[in-house]
Amino acid sequence: MMAGIEELVGLIQGAGQVVLVTHVKPDGDALGSLFGLADILQGMGKRAFCYLEEEAPHLYGFLPGIEQTETTIESLEHFVGAAGQKVLVIALDCGDKERLGKSGPLLRKIHPFVVIDHHKGNNGFGDLSWVEPHRSSTGEMICDLARALGQELSTSAATCLYTAIATDTGSFRYASTTSHTHRVAADLVERGARPGMINEKLYDCYPLGRLRLMQLVLTTLTMFADEQVAVISVTAEMLEQTGTTLEDTENFINLPRAVKTVRVAVFLKEGQGAVSVSLRSRGCCDVSRVAVRFGGGGHVRASGFRSSGLSLDQVREQLLPVLIEQLDC
Ligand code: 5GP
Ligand code: MN
Repeated sequence: MMAGIEELVGLIQGAGQVVLVTHVKPDGDALGSLFGLADILQGMGKRAFCYLEEEAPHLYGFLPGIEQTETTIESLEHFVGAAGQKVLVIALDCGDKERLGKSGPLLRKIHPFVVIDHHKGNNGFGDLSWVEPHRSSTGEMICDLARALGQELSTSAATCLYTAIATDTGSFRYASTTSHTHRVAADLVERGARPGMINEKLYDCYPLGRLRLMQLVLTTLTMFADEQVAVISVTAEMLEQTGTTLEDTENFINLPRAVKTVRVAVFLKEGQGAVSVSLRSRGCCDVSRVAVRFGGGGHVRASGFRSSGLSLDQVREQLLPVLIEQLDC
């Protein structure tokens, strides 16, 4: 059921123990929102259980509270069992139930199951879903939630939430950035978030291998449709050669996307028995529609999908005609 912030406030105030989850392959908004909200709930005297299916990417290791991450189903079952009937689950930044990952079915047995998200295609899969697609980030929504709960943010929560907003807005560059986004960010700085430190951790602390990987990935650049579509790829071999992982490819797609003629940038990533695809667009082209056609989803200008059992080249061949058709908007 779709709901507003008021219903959510009532539910949270009445809860003693809360399980916080997010989508698989969590990004800055997912993690910043999760640990930011955990800190807020803990400040209200509640117990928050921060569950991720896998350890968070190293890039986000600086987020206060990330050391509380629990990654085993057993620890989740133990927390829920000990809490009895009085446990609330909140899924953050997760656009559909499949993106909860392998633990999704187990998590969805816990009620009430609450969804807080800003993805356009979110159909409200929670018992109660607060979804605002026009918001820059889930982090921005959590800031409003804290205010509605009457909770002052700690420096830790402010750091997490600033990271959430800054990453999902491409450092306040995307069209989703509103005056409210900036006001919320200003409040976070007043509560102790340090933009200089956060941005250095996010963008100026890379291992050399990442630069070497970028060198290899950029050699794969291919242009289509009168230079309106740019495709780059990364193979398992490139990762091995540079001693990197797919985590190190974060933001690579922004390089081809920044070319003047490019309307859609595609990044094909080989790994773990599947090809994952990132799509980014500028202007009117809605890449989420393309992603949905391939079983994925996302936002108008940033979306993605995964494809099992096909090679990089096969995925590209299937994708390009669909994408080029979508350029006529
Ligand atoms: P990225 O390219 O950074 O992996 O993903 C960009 C956005 O696309 C994510 O924020 C998410 O909304 C969406 N997305 C990426 N992969 C998938 C997927 O496999 N399924 C769905 N539903 N959405 C995805
Ligand atoms: Mn987000």
